[in-house]
Amino acid sequence: MSGPLSGKCGVVLGVANKRSLAWAGAKALAAQGARVALTYQGERLREGVEKLAAELGPDTLVLPCDVIHLRQMDRLAESLKEKFGHLDFLVHSIAFAPTEDLKGRFRQISRKGFHRAMDVSVFSLVAACDRLSPLMQGRDASVVTLTYIGATRVIPNYNLMGVAKAALESTVRYLAYDLGEEGIRVNAISAGPVRTLSASAVGDFVKILDHVEQTAPLRRNIEQDDVGNVVAFLCSPHSRNITGDILFVDSGSHTMGV
Ligand code: NAP
Repeated sequence: MSGPLSGKCGVVLGVANKRSLAWAGAKALAAQGARVALTYQGERLREGVEKLAAELGPDTLVLPCDVIHLRQMDRLAESLKEKFGHLDFLVHSIAFAPTEDLKGRFRQISRKGFHRAMDVSVFSLVAACDRLSPLMQGRDASVVTLTYIGATRVIPNYNLMGVAKAALESTVRYLAYDLGEEGIRVNAISAGPVRTLSASAVGDFVKILDHVEQTAPLRRNIEQDDVGNVVAFLCSPHSRNITGDILFVDSGSHTMGV
């Protein structure tokens, strides 16, 4: 397919199902002409992700990658090198925190949950950049991750994930500086609330959706495809001088004081 991203190829991490923000990103990238590889976390998800991948094209690459297992990330880099030879973009749309750490008293978040959330939601971006950036050399490549306003403002129940997103946003800035030398850009999209599998784990999530609809400047919630389109923009040459940034796709919610 021709489009602003034709001739480009990259990988999208974090498709669980058709509601995933990663899936919206993959669709938008493919619609603009890019070749997209998808990853899945474990066998449980393989068949579903393969079915979605087929919608992008018959030979869409689907590879396993549980980011906790760094050997799997090494193998992902090897497979992408073999199949694509180089990469123009990496979309990281992965987060995890135990459900019990996404409700109730913040001070009672678990140490085990803290370590796991940081590992899956933050360190995975660093590890992916370390392994995949050698494939991005000389390509004006782009890395995009997903964050949420809970990084900098208190969102009741978001708890442990708020701390992980704060670390992720800082990681974006350090990576942008580190990889900038090689012409690689690193940005995050701060998405408004969207009904997905992960979001359903956050306590009182429906109240957050209602609040945005009532108080955001645009008085509406965002849709998955709003995020997908910005993923494609950040992977395109149109954003060639944007890096280390957090772009809000939230109907303007973040601008409000109350
Ligand atoms: P999602 O569809 O559940 O996506 C989360 C993905 O992370 C899933 O594919 C999940 O796989 C994957 N993941 C978790 N642990 C992993 C691991 N060890 N290795 C590899 N993958 C792993 O939910 P989503 O809402 O689209 O989330 C995508 C990103 O957007 C997350 O960073 C989230 O924090 C962010 N975000 C979401 C919203 C929202 O309201 N939905 C708002 C702002 C930001 P499994 O299903 O197999 O665990």
